[in-house]
Amino acid sequence: MNTKVWVVDDRANLSTSYPHISQAAQLLRENEVVAFPTETVYGLGANAFSDEAVRKIYEAKGRPSDNPLIVHIASKSKLDEIAKDIPDYAYKLINEYWPGPLTLILPKKGKLLSTIVTAGLDTVGVRMPDHPIALSLIREADVPIAAPSANRSGKPSPTQASHVYHDLNGKISGIVDGGATGVGVESTVLDCSTAVPTILRPGGITKEQLEAIIGEVKIDQALVEEGHAPKSPGMKYTHYAPNAPVVVVKGSLEFLQKVINKHQSEGKKVGVLTTMENVNQLEADTIIPCGSRADLPSVAAQLYDGLRKFDKEDIDIIISESFPQEGVGEAIMNRLLKAAGNNFIFEQ
Ligand code: AMP
Ligand code: MG
Repeated sequence: MNTKVWVVDDRANLSTSYPHISQAAQLLRENEVVAFPTETVYGLGANAFSDEAVRKIYEAKGRPSDNPLIVHIASKSKLDEIAKDIPDYAYKLINEYWPGPLTLILPKKGKLLSTIVTAGLDTVGVRMPDHPIALSLIREADVPIAAPSANRSGKPSPTQASHVYHDLNGKISGIVDGGATGVGVESTVLDCSTAVPTILRPGGITKEQLEAIIGEVKIDQALVEEGHAPKSPGMKYTHYAPNAPVVVVKGSLEFLQKVINKHQSEGKKVGVLTTMENVNQLEADTIIPCGSRADLPSVAAQLYDGLRKFDKEDIDIIISESFPQEGVGEAIMNRLLKAAGNNFIFEQ
């Protein structure tokens, strides 16, 4: 399959008649899959009403079929068509954070949605992305768009069109290239099918931001301690992983350097994922900086690109700094520890 790439760099002039967006929307209407930028990461979109279209997403990604997809809408009024029994607190969050990186899990309504989108569950994950290209594409396609991250299953999510091209060239109909995404980690997934809402996946909207609007919010036990089955099926799979194994290290710079030295003394080539502040303080075979410790959103924005860069380097292991688990640091650490398969070393 020939994968078309449309470069759409003139966001200011976007309109529903923008020719590239129209072509991409036409393909979506024809039940083809197209990747597009959102404010979090690139999504791989297909008509959420069509089994045929949605099946193509799972095939292109190599995604396990029991992992449901998030449905993207371009207007709040479309929510009623696919979800029901929406609690008041969900409306409060929608008023505050949509469009934005917040996915709400709600009871599914009617029979229009493909059952493959929801992996047979009676709930559906819905969000309205905060990106002009995503919104105009969904609006023009005129159907809800199922869209997981546009990477091969298991790899770091794409935050640039080149990442999508690398993973999915030849497997999908097209890529709308709108430059680098902003937030860099995926949406927060919040289960709203219960009396007290529960975070199933930390993401672009923090627990603190949710609680500021609606009060108590729980965190899925599976995110806090091992041995609990995650309520979000996707959280049980290995994710975000570069080719080399990843180890996350918490401690002083001296301790980090000791861990690096230990692996080098075993004959391994060591890559280090660090921050601007520490890039000149450490010695290793390859050092890749990813944002600033003083500005965690900048780490989130560059995290996946940083992890992907190691795949081009001759290294045997990646040692990563760790980050405070507060604000967006919660999402950063969740993704890093998944990439590491929970290989986490602390300084004693
Ligand atoms: P991705 O598409 O890569 O951003 O992943 C979507 C995440 O949302 C995965 O962790 C899914 O398991 C989760 N998700 C989507 N729909 C549902 C749902 N109905 N119930 C629980 N989790 C969901
Ligand atoms: Mg994903």
